[in-house]
Formats: sequence, C-alpha cells, structure tokens
Amino acid sequence: MSGFTSQPDQDFGVRIHEALEDAELRESFHGAMTFLREKRRSQFPDPDALENLRDSGAAIRDRALAKLPDLLEQLEDRCRHNGIQVHWAETSDEANAIITGLIQSVHGQRIVKGKSMATEEIGLNTALEAAGFTCLESDMGEYIVQQAGETPSHIIMPAIHRNKASIARQFADQIPDTPYTEDVDELIGTGRRVLRQAFAHADVGISGVNFAIAETGTLCLVENEGNGRMSTTVPDTHIAVMGIEKVIEKLADLPDLMRLLPRSATGQAITTYINLISGPRRDDECDGPRQVHLVLVDNGRSRIYADRELRATLRCIRCGACMNHCPVYERLGGHAYGTVYPGPIGQVVMPQLFGLDKAGKLTQACSLNGACGEACPVRIPLPDLIRRLRHEGVTDDPASPVRGHGRQRQASEALIWRVWATIHAHPRLYRLVTRLATRSRRLLPPLPRAWTARRARLEPAPRSFHEQMAQRRQTEPRP
Ligand code: SF4
Repeated sequence: MSGFTSQPDQDFGVRIHEALEDAELRESFHGAMTFLREKRRSQFPDPDALENLRDSGAAIRDRALAKLPDLLEQLEDRCRHNGIQVHWAETSDEANAIITGLIQSVHGQRIVKGKSMATEEIGLNTALEAAGFTCLESDMGEYIVQQAGETPSHIIMPAIHRNKASIARQFADQIPDTPYTEDVDELIGTGRRVLRQAFAHADVGISGVNFAIAETGTLCLVENEGNGRMSTTVPDTHIAVMGIEKVIEKLADLPDLMRLLPRSATGQAITTYINLISGPRRDDECDGPRQVHLVLVDNGRSRIYADRELRATLRCIRCGACMNHCPVYERLGGHAYGTVYPGPIGQVVMPQLFGLDKAGKLTQACSLNGACGEACPVRIPLPDLIRRLRHEGVTDDPASPVRGHGRQRQASEALIWRVWATIHAHPRLYRLVTRLATRSRRLLPPLPRAWTARRARLEPAPRSFHEQMAQRRQTEPRP
C-alpha cells in the first residue's frame, strides 16, 4: 500500500513497544533531535524576527493556496513555454504509470533519484521494480536505507536511526572491496564513489521539487550533497515529481521561504545547493538534460483543499521541524509510525491522503503538548488539526469531508462521552455525581490493566473539589 511502510492499523501498538524497548534507538533519536533543536535555535537568535518570518512564511503559503487552481494553470503554461513537459496525476497509480511510461519512451535503463518525499508517498520505487526497472537512490541517507532494504525514518534525514558502526558493516558486506571502517569521511567517500559511477552512466534522473514558481515556470530544489544537481543535469531525461500544493506565486516569495526552510530543517543558514531549473538544455548549451518533465501529483490534496480548516495542512514545506520537536517522535523514531511521513505532519497528512480507516490509531500517538505547532515555520496549527482528525475519526456525521471518517467510533465509548458531557453540562448533577464518586471510591471497579500498566492508578479524592473549597472558605475566611 503506497504511503505506508507497514500496516499502521494492525500492529502500531507492537511497533511502539518495540521502539520503546530499543535503548540504542532511543539514544540515537534523543541525541539527534536535541542536536537539531539546538542548531535551529542558534539560527534564530531574535525571537521577534523569527515570529515575523513565520508570519511571512504562513502568508506566502496561504496566498498561494488561496489561488491554487490559477497558479497551477499559470505554472503549467510557463513551464510549457520554457520547454518543460507537464503531466497531471490524480492518484499514486496514475503518477507511477506516467513516470514508468516516460522512462519506457526514452528507453531508460539506468535511473538515479534525488531525495523526494513525493516519490516515497506514491511508492515509485516499488512501481518501477514491478515494471522491471531499478532506481538507485542518490541521497546518501536514502542510499543507505535503500541498500539495507529499509525505509526512511525522517523526512529530511532518512538514515538518522542508523549509527556509523552499522553503516560500516553494511558497506563492508555489500560494496565489493570495501574494508570495514567507522571513519565517517571514508564511509562518505565510499558512498560517493558508488554514486558518481551511477551518475556518470544514468540516462534518467528523478527528483522532487521544494517549490515551483508559477510566475516564471521554475522548479526549485534545495539540497546539500550535490546529488540533486547531478540527478537533474547529467542524465538526458529529468523527471521532477511534486505535490500540487508546492506551487508559489512569484520568485520574490522564495527568499523568505529559503530563510525558513534550511534553518528549520537542519539548522543551516542556507543549503549547499539551491537549484533553479527552468527548462531543458538549449541548443547553445553543452550540458543539461534534453527533456524535462514535471509530474504534478494530486493524490488526495484536492480533498484536503476543499475543507477550509484542513487546508492549512497544505502549507507544509516539509522541513521536519515538527518531528524534531515532538517528544513522541523523539522516543519512537520514524519507523514505528509505519507511514512515509512520520511525526506530527504525518499524523495530519496521512489520514487525509489515505483515509482515517487506513491510518488506524495514528492520531492518538500525540500528547497535544503543542511543541510541533510552535516550531512550524509556516504556522500550521498541527495540534488543532490532530484534534480535528480525532473528532473526524469518531464522528457519525455522514457529511464529514475526511475519507474513512467514523471508523474509530465505538458505541461504548460514545455512550461514556455522552454521559460525561451531560454531567458536565449540569452543575447540580455534576456535584451530585462527584459527591457520590468520592463517597463510594473504594467500591469503584479497578481500571483495566491496559490503562494501569504504564500509568498511576486513578482514584477519586476523599472529598470533591467543591466540598474542599467550601470547607476552606469556612475555615479560611477571605481577608
Ligand atoms: S508541518 Fe510545519 S514543521 Fe512540520 S514539516 Fe511541515 S512545515 Fe515543517
């Protein structure tokens, strides 16, 4: 199933327990997330300047979303004018079929891919394998996880769950004539040698897109390793894949977004490479691809767009800061979620793209502490959206806009909440019930072990809060 790396609805609890028991994994993520948070903080020394920049980022993304249909048409028009061929895909399957068809049409054999979450979302590698192609991941982290048969555990740092010893073992086992070494520079050098060979012989390069500028028909791709530039310039055919929400209105919008993205993602002031791709090689140019294709993927985004509150999801610039600040993600790591997008943004985007029924209890893996919303550079109200999706999961409203709505609803739980709501809406009833509960607290049935296994036992106080306050007022009269 594209979008998911395992069955989130079936063994989410098992994966959570496994992750919590894995001391090495917890240590890796704790160290990495602490480091990333510190780096980000150091890049935004002035809190007021940061808040202003976040306002600007949110406004740019909101303005683009408000005009999304028009901007997409403008982008298509400008891209075509620049010589970029534009393709529209409504679903993952359509996107994969278009990309496979493009590769077949140029008789592509050796395919390299730069880092792209959109291609992870649509399950492109699996689709290409089914069509008889092998696509080599060229981002170092992606290369490591692909070679290990794993999936990325973070949207920016795919191999963040791996330590250098395990990568050293992997390279020594899988790359011919490679001695075991834990020297990071040597490990990187080994990976680079393999990837350079692949770039030199590649005939198709696939990439993602960070932002597409409607005004100029330009595709912007940011990266640190140069693999994005190699994938988009060395092969004769470049295929760029992007979700339709990545369009921005004009070139002047880019600087503020670029001030936010690398700082929020990796704590860098700027990435090593910023690629602005505006078409294939021209007649008087000696390098660059002969064909550039842009595949615009909807895959459920139009449905998200239709709901005014949920539309904020589409502001996302995929920086990963919400993960880096999430205490749940820090303790579990990315794989436990079983989704291509893990962490807070995954909990919001996955149920909307693929259905609440497919996402299982994903939205429950959140303490609603709010750290993700405070870190988000484009002010996506992630906790509010998670709460909204929890509501959609149990609603019996047939007009709910979210696919798979109501699938989490249990009659017994709904009854409990109805009783709870009635009690809390009637002060006299509330006082009576709390009075009875405190008096009969020793007779209350024990909570299920599933609740008490990792939590303290809940027990009503000997006297209700109202009674305690009334008593205090008598013994401690107001001055
Ligand atoms: S939701 Fe916000 S913090 Fe999370 S990846 Fe998207 S832009 Fe970054």
